[in-house]
Amino acid sequence: CGIVGYSSTGFRAAHVLLHGLQTLEYRGYDSSGAAFFTARGVEIIKSKGTVSQLQKRLEQCSIRSSCGIAHTRWATHGAPDERNAHPHRQGSVTLVHNGIIENHALLAKELEAKGYRFHTQTDSEVACACIDEAYQRLKDPLRALQCAQTRLKGSYAFAVLFDECPDTVYATRFDSPLIVAKGADASYVASDVLAFLAYTKTYVVLEQKQIAILHGTDIRLVDTDGQQRAPRYQEAVMDA
Ligand code: GLU
Repeated sequence: CGIVGYSSTGFRAAHVLLHGLQTLEYRGYDSSGAAFFTARGVEIIKSKGTVSQLQKRLEQCSIRSSCGIAHTRWATHGAPDERNAHPHRQGSVTLVHNGIIENHALLAKELEAKGYRFHTQTDSEVACACIDEAYQRLKDPLRALQCAQTRLKGSYAFAVLFDECPDTVYATRFDSPLIVAKGADASYVASDVLAFLAYTKTYVVLEQKQIAILHGTDIRLVDTDGQQRAPRYQEAVMDA
């Protein structure tokens, strides 16, 4: 039910993402998880229950990362257990999702016919495979997301990592909230400004189906017509 993503030049991803999830706990959730770019590739850590349980796992792993995505889940499809917790992974795509993919059953059948195997009962894992299928064909994350958007019906906010694009977070949304923010040494994406207010107040609300690409302090927004658009930032007035 909450999303946070982060890209920076330091190694604070685990700390910043965890803080973000804590600020989003008020939205309600049954499990949580995070994925990070590390020296070993993309690492995923999940836990059923509270964010403090995820925190314990993260502390055990002592993740060293400058970029990642994190999620609190309010289960809609599939039991609220660790396996169904986000992030999900298919091929070279790792994703967190808020919302509901209405046509997940039909898409899952099509993707299974193409060789995809599903390990969870979630609609979100199907969305992940749908993006990976497009990515393997088009070899371009932006075009893969644009292609997946034409196939996915329902509501979504996604934060996505592509194995071949280290330290970069892709994000997009339709009928679920998603906000992008720019800090002094990092960029953020979240379902609520609260998640990054301790670090920056400069943000922009993503428009429907707009795609954001975050890499360090570099934020690019791409409109549905494929054109790049300069972000029109606002300043949050509330205190952290
Ligand atoms: N529909 C997805 C699931 O059940 C996402 C739920 C959410 O928004 O947290 O896993």
